[in-house]
Amino acid sequence: MTSRAVSAICLSLLLALSGCGDPVRHVVGAGAGGPVPAASGTPAPTGPEPTSAPKPEPTPSSPPRPVRPTPPPPPKLRPLPKQLPADLRRNTGVRAVALTFDDGPSPAWTPQLLDQLRAAHVTATFCVVGVQVKRHPQLVARIVREGHQLCNHSWRHDMDLGRRPLAEIRADLVRTNRAIQAAAPGAKVPFFRQPGGRWTGEEIPVARQLGMRPLHWSVDPQDWARPAPPVITKRVTTTVRAGAVVLMHDGGGNRASTMAACRFLIPELKRRYGVTRLR
Ligand SMILES: [Zn+2]
Repeated sequence: MTSRAVSAICLSLLLALSGCGDPVRHVVGAGAGGPVPAASGTPAPTGPEPTSAPKPEPTPSSPPRPVRPTPPPPPKLRPLPKQLPADLRRNTGVRAVALTFDDGPSPAWTPQLLDQLRAAHVTATFCVVGVQVKRHPQLVARIVREGHQLCNHSWRHDMDLGRRPLAEIRADLVRTNRAIQAAAPGAKVPFFRQPGGRWTGEEIPVARQLGMRPLHWSVDPQDWARPAPPVITKRVTTTVRAGAVVLMHDGGGNRASTMAACRFLIPELKRRYGVTRLR
């Protein structure tokens, strides 16, 4: 075989490989149809289902890219710490509990929840995702108008945000806050919550520099996995203590179970402890 022929075969092989859109296959050579490996071996993080991840926006000005023979190197992520950083906010500091709702705003669920909160005369903290803020600015405006607090929950619910370079973390948080400001000019964003609770110590100073305190939780009924409403209410009522920060979800998927549970939980928590605004 001539060297010309060998080159031609190599080139066509490379082209065939590059045509595949899945970078994982380039790197590890996993066969088509093989199981996608889990993100990591860390304990089950709290977060939305994968289907809820907002779709990336197309970049308007990018022309068709030339075929590249080698894939880009995978991003270098710093390891997750074995323990949560110490300076996370996990309680209210008073007897009353705080309600926090993540991954919205969602036109299907956030208005229902806002109606419930208004009927109970309590306020909550909404940990909003940038792409959802951009899609539904009127919901952010309503959240603020009705006296609730906002928490930055990253641009597109990036579970690995805290593991990325500091400049990327900062850019993500700034972009999300800008979308919030566009939706509700002048609104305060006093908190940041890392998606999935996968905090790193490095991201906390970045959030603080932007005026946001790291907000975690103390009660997590895993409502994002859509258990039946009585399961959610039982998980909350059996683990809640004075000063708890309760985590639930008004976005990222079907939240009918959460909404049904809240019809009981919001008045019940108010009766037992009172519901306070986070400070
Ligand atoms: Zn989340």
